[in-house]
Formats: sequence, structure tokens, C-alpha cells
Amino acid sequence: MVYLENEYWRNLKPYSQISKEDWENWKWQLANRLTSFEDLKKFFSPDEKLKISFLKTADIYHFGTTPYYFSLIKKFSYEDPIFRQIFPSLEELDSNLQKNSYLDPFREEELSPVKGLTHRYPDRVLFRATNFCSVYCRHCMRKRIFLEEERARTKEEYDLMFEYIRENKSIKEVLISGGDPLTLPNKKLEYIIKNLYEIPHVDIIRIGSRELVSNPYRFFDEDLLEIFDKYDKIWLVTHFNHPNEITNITKKVVKNILSTGTPVLNQTVLMKGINDDKFTIEELMRDLLRVKIKPYYLFYADPVEGTLHFRTDLKKGIEIIEHLRGRVSGLATPIYAVDLENGLGKVPVFPNYIVEEGKDYIIFRNYEGKLIKQYK
Ligand code: SF4
Repeated sequence: MVYLENEYWRNLKPYSQISKEDWENWKWQLANRLTSFEDLKKFFSPDEKLKISFLKTADIYHFGTTPYYFSLIKKFSYEDPIFRQIFPSLEELDSNLQKNSYLDPFREEELSPVKGLTHRYPDRVLFRATNFCSVYCRHCMRKRIFLEEERARTKEEYDLMFEYIRENKSIKEVLISGGDPLTLPNKKLEYIIKNLYEIPHVDIIRIGSRELVSNPYRFFDEDLLEIFDKYDKIWLVTHFNHPNEITNITKKVVKNILSTGTPVLNQTVLMKGINDDKFTIEELMRDLLRVKIKPYYLFYADPVEGTLHFRTDLKKGIEIIEHLRGRVSGLATPIYAVDLENGLGKVPVFPNYIVEEGKDYIIFRNYEGKLIKQYK
């Protein structure tokens, strides 16, 4: 967890004159996103290799970050977990590294009865509200949106999506995602939430957003907190991947979110060179609990085109879960899961703790590797 001093951004020369009022305003963060190579050059002098990587890759998969998220970088190199999550890399375009990857491995577009809506499980739908994000994560499972024009869907598109949900009573949960739905203005966001809230068979409105990671000042906004408070079917699922992303600001705003009665859960993606290390994940899970976010999933990286270089061995995740078991509280242990291709669902993957089973006994292995025989 990182402690940010009051007005810490003033230490970064290009932000030395930025007032507290501006920096802590989520709209200022969005309006002042860094989106080009020229923007980055104000902060450091990228070497030739970084320059080529950026220019060749960002031309295809665009680049974007909030000043806040960028300010969390400690070293301008791929070794830095935050830099590596946002700075374009030639690995994204390397056909050898990207072999057996797909633009839409979960057939979200195909399993879409109405534009923007994916119906892949009987009781849930995915509601893609916008394809805009304040930060473009190189590992995004919906990286195909990087290739599209940045825009929110229109009211007419939303209305068709509501109509489908109204007519399908088996739908109990709507996951509003994107892009990032919390980059939408409050009026548009409330229009979506209100319409979903008023559908009697919808029990849960799950918002999938990275704003808590990339633009936490979004949750200083009283009007947003009022929306969360008013429509009490909301759950927030966020996406922290590394302890360097959790700050004292995170802690402060999670408190604001929880005060509206909205639970906050986290999904992490296991990624090579970012968090594929048991001690890093342990620290991340501990920090999440410290700021009162419940670790939910640890995902094996999806086979998405342009992201496959982040994928680890499947066993790496099992090893990490084994490490967590017995060392951290069950509250801090996420479910390790693989999302199956073609929209066939998520499969949890666990270490095997049953060593042998006889007619009247089972031999278990505990977290220390001790074998314990128990009778049935
Ligand atoms: S914020 Fe979410 S949707 Fe947007 S690029 Fe990052 S992971 Fe993808």
C-alpha cells in the first residue's frame, strides 16, 4: 500500500501548479488524461526502444491514463507494475506471442441478442454501457474496444437493452461494464441504473469499474454516492492487480462507497511480470482487506489477442493459492478461475488437498504439507 502525501503531485514538474481542487476532481482527471507520446515526454525521456514500442503499438491499440494512475509509477520501465499495465509494448503485436488468441474469445458479440448486451448465463447479462475508459490497460479482456471509436452508447441503444431484460424474467443480475461505466456522466449513469432498478426481477446491479484504481476521486462525488445510496441493488466490482495501486486515497474513498451500503469486491488478473509472485499477491490481498475490499476472483489471463504475453503457466495460480491458504485469512483468499473460451463459463481451479480416499477414510494434506487421516 502506498501513502500519498498531501498535494504529492506537485513533486511532478508538469503538475507542480495544479491545485488540490483540480487534482482531486474526477472530471479534471478525465479531461487531463495522457494520451500521446508527446504527453509522456513531459515526464521522462523514453529511450529509442520505448519510443518505437509506443509509436508502433499505440497506433493500433491506443494509449490512455489519468494523471493519478500515472503518478503511481515509480520507475519508467516495464519492470514497474503500473508502467507495464499502461505503456504499449511490441509484445502486443508479436504474432508468435499472440498465437492461439482471439479478439473476442468469449463470443460476447455473437451471444448478443441486442447490441451491447451479452446473454451467456441464464440468470445474468452483461450490459456494455460505453467503450471509453480513463485508463487503457494493456491486458484488457475486451481489448477489441481499443480498436473502436471511443463513445458511450446512445439512449436508444440502452432502451433496447432494457426492453430485452424486461422481457426475460430469468435475468436476476445485470453486470454493467464497458469500457468503464463510471466514466459516464452521472445523468447518463443514473438513467441506466434507474431503468434496471425498476425491473422487478433484477435483484443485483453489478458495476464493473476500474475507476477506484485509476481515478478514485470519482468517489468524492456526492451525486454519485447519492445514486449508489438510492438504488440499493448496486454492487461494485473493481480491478486491482498490484499493491502499488492501493493508496491512502483508496482507503478514504472505499469508506465513502461502503457508507452507501454498496459492497466492494475485487477481481485480479494473474500476469507475467506484474503480479505472478506469491508474495506480491499476498501483499495485494492483505492490502485489499485493509481498505475493506473483499478479494473475489484471481483470474488466469484470458486468451485475448494483444494480451497473451501476460499469460503465466496455469500452475502458477495454484501455487499462489496454496501459499495463501493457511497464511492469510479465508477472507483474503480469492477464487482462482479460468474463463473458458467460447462463452462456456468460469471454472474454479483449486490445489488438491485430498491425497487418498479409502472405503472408510480420507487422507488430507494441510497447508504445511502434513498428511492427516480422517475416518468417514
Ligand atoms: S479499465 Fe477495464 S475495460 Fe477499460 S481497459 Fe482497463 S480492464 Fe479494460
